[in-house]
Amino acid sequence: MTAAIVWFRRDLRLADNPALQAACAGNRPIVPVYVHAPEELGAWAPGAASDWWLHQSLAALAGELRELGLDLVLRRGPSLQALTRLIRETGADAVHWNRLYEPAIIARDREIKAELRRAGLEVHSHNAALLHEPWTVQTGTGGDYRAFTPFWKACRRREEPPAPAPAPTQLAAPAGGLPEGEPLDAMGLLPAIRWDRKLEGHWQPGSAGAEARLAAFLDDGLASYDEGRDLPAQPATSRLSPHLHFGEIGPRQVWHAVQRRLARDGAGSLTAGAEAFLAEVGWREFAYHVLFHHPGFPDEPLNPRFSRFPWREDDGRLRHAWERGETGLPMVDAGMRELWATGWMHNRVRMVTGSLLVKNLRLPWQQGERWFWDTLVDADLASNSLGWQWVAGSGADAAPYFRVFNPVRQGERFDPDGEYVARWIPELAGLPAQHRHAPWQAPASALRAAGLRLDEHYPRPVVDLKRSREEALEAFQLIKQASA
Ligand SMILES: Cc1cc2nc3c(=O)[nH]c(=O)nc-3n(C[C@H](O)[C@H](O)[C@H](O)COP(=O)(O)OP(=O)(O)OC[C@H]3O[C@@H](n4cnc5c(N)ncnc54)[C@H](O)[C@@H]3O)c2cc1C
Repeated sequence: MTAAIVWFRRDLRLADNPALQAACAGNRPIVPVYVHAPEELGAWAPGAASDWWLHQSLAALAGELRELGLDLVLRRGPSLQALTRLIRETGADAVHWNRLYEPAIIARDREIKAELRRAGLEVHSHNAALLHEPWTVQTGTGGDYRAFTPFWKACRRREEPPAPAPAPTQLAAPAGGLPEGEPLDAMGLLPAIRWDRKLEGHWQPGSAGAEARLAAFLDDGLASYDEGRDLPAQPATSRLSPHLHFGEIGPRQVWHAVQRRLARDGAGSLTAGAEAFLAEVGWREFAYHVLFHHPGFPDEPLNPRFSRFPWREDDGRLRHAWERGETGLPMVDAGMRELWATGWMHNRVRMVTGSLLVKNLRLPWQQGERWFWDTLVDADLASNSLGWQWVAGSGADAAPYFRVFNPVRQGERFDPDGEYVARWIPELAGLPAQHRHAPWQAPASALRAAGLRLDEHYPRPVVDLKRSREEALEAFQLIKQASA
């Protein structure tokens, strides 16, 4: 029997993997390959934290395949050349992959599909990454959605996502064996200076890690998700985002695991926790929907009025302070330090740090988007663009521009004991909780007792919150009037 190639991309799992399932049907021999070709993603080639994750995730997938007697073949791009060579080497006459939705990847895949079909191959793409692919959800008039609630309602009216297939228990290699690939270390995914070691303690990339995260969340987080999800000091959210991004687990698996858990617990319908959690998974679907229908979304404001926004002239000082978590605003700095240390930041804090950058510092949202792109282990073109345009007020279903988060009030509300701030800014841990979100307002006696000298141990705010808020609103009025 001739072999089929399974081209792994961001679907780094064996269970619920339709490309793999289709390729090995009838115990057909398969050639599993990963092609490293970041340049094909243009300006949005993965950042350093994503590369670290990818390295670990490929190692995990290779281990799972090895247990079934197959080696993952690693090759370098260009993708078409790598696949063509592999077809020549193995005599494969079919290629399967799971679809991705970034504009550059869609264009590349279309070309590859056409080229391979011209060469006489059987080529099939499948859906592993979404509950509802972007073109399948349409408004009554056949258009795309720009608001989340009607989008999600439309998704919920559709059929339940199909139950995920289990991982195959056996896989066959081609009779002549598998060709050599390149060693994983040669892909250059790990940084030369090993700053990435700090990430190791926080994550277990790979499908086993993803499943363990999901199981832990179902046990400890799901029931109270609706209440706990906004509290960054609590481990109340699933932290599945990087696993979902790399396809180590798919949303169908998450969806059905939630349903099974509710059934086991005797819940007749979705609990408030489950409803809220699945809606967040729905935001991920919405992000892909928006990106698919608006390919310029990562770079340009969806609302064109914002392309004339009068951003502040910055010599890099403000941006640098924000990136390093040295703005003097504890809730912001804690978030930026969490990001730097772990490659992840709590959603509430992403909104607070983003708001400070875009509104108070009045720096372009694209600068924040880029920093997140390089430092997040879950950096995802669709969700990151949606998040930043939401914060900036320029995107689909975005926060209204005049909603400027006050990081002190946000801290007092969502981190009332200052626990999150103390965790990431230990120099503030000695202050009583009520002063941790605004140390510059703490009485001298409290600062003294905590051994904290402002400017020396921790900066004063780089920006006046009240004045900068007013300036942001004035700037917004300007673009509003200009486009009236
Ligand atoms: C400025 C900004 C940038 C962001 N950048 C990214 C990004 O690059 N990658 C990314 O995956 N998410 C991004 N998000 C969305 C969100 O912050 C993360 O998905 C979430 O914090 C991940 O943590 P979790 O897995 O514990 O989420 P949970 O609360 O457990 O949610 C479950 C899953 O739902 C999805 N999800 C949750 N919230 C959102 C959302 N608002 N938008 C899209 N999907 C969501 C994620 O896949 C997540 O894993 C961004 C949000 C903002 C405000």
